[in-house]
Amino acid sequence: MSAAPERVAIITGGASGIGQALAVGYAEEGVASVFAYHPRDPHDPGETVSAVEAAGGVAVAVAADVSSSEAVDELIAVALSRFGRIDAVVANAGILRRAAIEDMDDASWNEVIGVDLTGVMRVFRAAVPHMVSGGALVAVSSMSGGVYGWNDHAHYAAAKAGVIGLVRSLAVELGPRGIRANTVVPGLTRTPQSLDKVNALGEERLNELAQGVPLRRVAEPSEIADLIRYLTGPSSSYVNGAEIRIDGGLTVRQVD
Ligand code: NAD
Repeated sequence: MSAAPERVAIITGGASGIGQALAVGYAEEGVASVFAYHPRDPHDPGETVSAVEAAGGVAVAVAADVSSSEAVDELIAVALSRFGRIDAVVANAGILRRAAIEDMDDASWNEVIGVDLTGVMRVFRAAVPHMVSGGALVAVSSMSGGVYGWNDHAHYAAAKAGVIGLVRSLAVELGPRGIRANTVVPGLTRTPQSLDKVNALGEERLNELAQGVPLRRVAEPSEIADLIRYLTGPSSSYVNGAEIRIDGGLTVRQVD
């Protein structure tokens, strides 16, 4: 890629799963990525950088915990000092924790809301003042909260429902400035998050649930990333304030 990329995207949670696939997809279309990785998570951000470079692109990794406003502000500052522009912001970072309502102490609730909902607001808030007409925001919700409730995951579902209201409001607020905001609502996707047996499903349960999906499989991270690329690219120029489910048909299946 040349020194001045055609577009620049911010991605949170770019060291694994959907965020990593997105950075690689962007590389293939000449979009540079500045991605945040959680400094205390085990994922190696170098993996994303190498995969992007192998695809002929540029990715800049920034250690930034989205529960810190200062860290998120610094992420945006790095993007501006490196590229001088921000065209797309993808609030993808997320955590999943299992907790029944009786065990939902304030700390558990606040941790998940602080990353999965307030973390989304923080990155949009920091980036928007530097964006111009043609820019695009995307948040990653979930069918849990975005469509269904999920037992033992009320904080996660509340956050994922919350981002839909947040994004709808930004679509209205920023639309007059030519900045679009949309939400993707993924179904079952094979990533470290869904493969976590303690807090989420694990491999075996994921494979069982795949049989209930009309397409008879779960999504690959790149398939969710492709939708995000569409929503942040010029082909979706009239899509604003939308929530798009991408779930292989799972949520329209009537159980008979
Ligand atoms: P993942 O665990 O691979 O990705 C999440 C990323 O967020 C990780 O790289 C993690 O290090 C990062 N992260 C976590 N907390 C952070 C913090 N405080 N600051 C910065 N980064 C942080 O899993 P994924 O499935 O690729 O998750 C991406 C998004 O997709 C999440 O918002 C998740 O809730 C959502 N989602 C996933 C599925 C699924 O089935 N995998 C379904 C619906 C929605």
